[in-house]
Amino acid sequence: MQHSIPIDSLGPQGEIMAQAVQTCVHCGFCLPTCPTYRLLGEEMDSPRGRIYLMKETLEGSVTLEESAPFIDRCLGCLACVPACPSGVPYGDLLTSFRAHAEPQRSDRPASQRMQRLLIRQTLPYAGRFRAAARAGRLGKRLSALLPDRLRTMVALLPDELPQAAPLPDFYPAQGTRRARVALLVGCVQQTLAPEINWATLRVLSRNGVEVLIPRGQGCCGALSMHIGQADQARDLARANLATFPNDVDAVVTNAAGCGSGMHEYPVLFKGLAEEAQAAAFAGKALDISVFLHRLGLSAPPPLAQPLRVAYHDACHLANAQGVRSEPRQLLSHIPNLTLLEIPDGELCCGSAGAYNLEQPEIAHQLGERKARNILTTGADAIVTGNIGCMTQIAAHLTRLGQPLPLWHTVQVLDRAYAGVMRNA
Ligand code: SF4
Ligand code: SF4
Repeated sequence: MQHSIPIDSLGPQGEIMAQAVQTCVHCGFCLPTCPTYRLLGEEMDSPRGRIYLMKETLEGSVTLEESAPFIDRCLGCLACVPACPSGVPYGDLLTSFRAHAEPQRSDRPASQRMQRLLIRQTLPYAGRFRAAARAGRLGKRLSALLPDRLRTMVALLPDELPQAAPLPDFYPAQGTRRARVALLVGCVQQTLAPEINWATLRVLSRNGVEVLIPRGQGCCGALSMHIGQADQARDLARANLATFPNDVDAVVTNAAGCGSGMHEYPVLFKGLAEEAQAAAFAGKALDISVFLHRLGLSAPPPLAQPLRVAYHDACHLANAQGVRSEPRQLLSHIPNLTLLEIPDGELCCGSAGAYNLEQPEIAHQLGERKARNILTTGADAIVTGNIGCMTQIAAHLTRLGQPLPLWHTVQVLDRAYAGVMRNA
């Protein structure tokens, strides 16, 4: 059976999509920025082509089954958004379209449906993900026996998982208190790199910020949004709306994907009872680099030895939130640290939420290209602001036999304050 999505039946979400498709003037300025267009060279794998396909599907002249492969291949990297002179809100269009399309998708093969089930039942839940990651590491040894989609998933896991490092409910400010924030701790990151949250607490404290870590918080819902599971995303978001206090200066996150996800809450709850609360929450959500930059960073001491780091722009920070200069300016406060730019730096690394699990060939090409571009800089280390990018880049540098230290921006600041940049 062939499906279409009648736009008139979609309420406020339909209005968001209609407004987005009507804003596109088909100029094509976005095409050279799009990773899939650059790799595949197909109009329908470009932002303009996808907007056209979504419009035609909404109007009923193209079926969902015809447009789906092209929409599935979109990374959601949003490189097309800053390039668009007309201000097409492509991210809102894509998220809303996927939310309405997914329940009608009967064309996905059983193996893909199983993979999606596994993704949505494990990745957003820290405890389940830790258990699955432990099992997956064992699976790595039997990788040749695994089905393709499972093999792709376990290949991205590191050989060793760090020890769990539970966080306190509260972390005090050092010296005079300058601000009070609540920290979103993330889900995948807690298993793969718990040190990032601890570095965040130490750096905030060092800068006079008191931190609450609300119990009962969970995944921001971004991953569920990206795979079209809007109901699950809303359930996860509601838990955070109920858990985070209002009397804080900011809700701070150190994962670009989570920051971007929280900024999507107003679209997720458009027309629902929580719309105003979601907008207020999104207004308080700030990436750690933006928060520290606005606060004013206390100067770190000079590094004992010179260090050259390449900064990688996470798409969900640079494109989705417009955050490019803040992390660079924070790093530039560290004496003896040289910041290097990565050639073709605006091109996505291929991580993109669950994209590297679902579209492994394109993700592989982008990951390898990113790793090779990083290596041309001659950097001693790589710095970025997103756990997904860190995992993807680490996997590709290791594959190329040239692993490098990979740090979050806040880990670099933490180590600079502690004077342990080289040996940590
Ligand atoms: S740049 Fe904007 S208006 Fe032009 S084709 Fe792309 S999305 Fe449409
Ligand atoms: S979100 Fe990224 S992959 Fe998708 S159309 Fe825009 S630039 Fe291309």
